[in-house]
Amino acid sequence: MIIRHAAVVDVEHARIISNQAIAIEGDTIRAVGPDRSLTRKFTAPRTIDAAGKFVMPGLWDMHVHFGGEQLIEENKDLLPLYVAYGVTTVRDCAEDISNFVLAWRSDVAAGKLLGPTIYTSGPKLEGHKPIWKGTIEVGSPAEVDAALDRLQAMKVDFVKITDNTLKPEIFLYAVKAAKTRGLKTSAHTPYALTIKQAAVAGLNSVEHLDYLIKAGSPQEASIGADYSAKKLSYGEAADKFVETFDPSYAAQEYRRLAVIGIYVTPTLNMTRILAYLDREDHSRDSALAYIGPGLRKTYEWRVERAAKATPAQVEARHREYELSLKVLPMLRDAGIPILAGTDVGYLNSFNYPGEGLHEELERYVEAGLTPQQALSSATITGPGFLGHSDRYGTLADGKVADILILNANPLNDVKATRDIRGVVLHGKWLDRGALDKLLADAKAKVARSNTEGAETR
Ligand SMILES: [Zn+2]
Repeated sequence: MIIRHAAVVDVEHARIISNQAIAIEGDTIRAVGPDRSLTRKFTAPRTIDAAGKFVMPGLWDMHVHFGGEQLIEENKDLLPLYVAYGVTTVRDCAEDISNFVLAWRSDVAAGKLLGPTIYTSGPKLEGHKPIWKGTIEVGSPAEVDAALDRLQAMKVDFVKITDNTLKPEIFLYAVKAAKTRGLKTSAHTPYALTIKQAAVAGLNSVEHLDYLIKAGSPQEASIGADYSAKKLSYGEAADKFVETFDPSYAAQEYRRLAVIGIYVTPTLNMTRILAYLDREDHSRDSALAYIGPGLRKTYEWRVERAAKATPAQVEARHREYELSLKVLPMLRDAGIPILAGTDVGYLNSFNYPGEGLHEELERYVEAGLTPQQALSSATITGPGFLGHSDRYGTLADGKVADILILNANPLNDVKATRDIRGVVLHGKWLDRGALDKLLADAKAKVARSNTEGAETR
């Protein structure tokens, strides 16, 4: 297959290279170059004319979830949805259906299942009796070692660790032990530890920007100690990190964290949605039509929690989001690599697979990132984090042919990533008609489940 007359979006250098051709063989890009010279060297049974179009690498969503033991089919049905929105790779950050996700990972890779390339943590590590389901519960170094053995046997792509009941010393042990085994870690850091302690132990990525608000408070350690001593609840401690955030201290701390080497997945859009559930009605969101009734029901957990919030708590959530918008460009300025990720898929209300990544990128630009920086977070940084830059991240010889053909220039307006003419998914061409069919099929399936559900009620 040859894509001709394309304006190639060179995300790394923020420039457009016009009138290029891209030769693709199987799932791999064989050559990229000036249309005239390249088409002399290569012939192909199929030519895609991209005159007037903008061509860039497929998007990566670095924080999604598949979850719900009774909702296997609904989760599987989300896979084509990602593709229809131009998301060609997802990083699954754990839930309770890891065995299915691992099977889908193989089936997508083998071309048996249409979906984005999946990287997964498998089940995450937690302490004993956490609120989360499907975790591996660890309370001692020996249990961590056994858990990591299990994860390595599953050939997971990284290790996810969360802090609900995990002891801080076991958290540090897990991060170090994973590092020794050459496994990347991604986490919610226990409040009893500073983010710097986690980074020094070898933590590779901080999930959710609020943990970097915490790192930007000069009182991070003492608030954490008060939380450990049960003088503060989790929510009170979180609010205190926001209240005591100090921009000049934070700027220095972020530079130190950048030097130690840590990535962040902000999930800014999720913070925004949760912060404004008090005043935004999502019941008419058009993307709800793609979400099965079971997954939609999981949204209620967050909604009910939000409904219980006092006016002061609502105000605190708004303040936290406003601060998050200020922190994001500070992280960029400090040189902390930003991984675009959404937290979509399960539990996290009104944040939609595929669509959510576009929202996330728009939030980044609202916060002060350039469109180029936002695009970079969704194309180049993810492969860099996972160690797959040799095959992904740019349009070049030897890279996987995961390509978006857009109707407008995303370097001018990041919203152009929504305006998709077609997607090349591992060398397979899906034009606008094919993408629309994926969306229509997803919608029809959800509509059928909704009617069946209504009949059995
Ligand atoms: Zn998450």
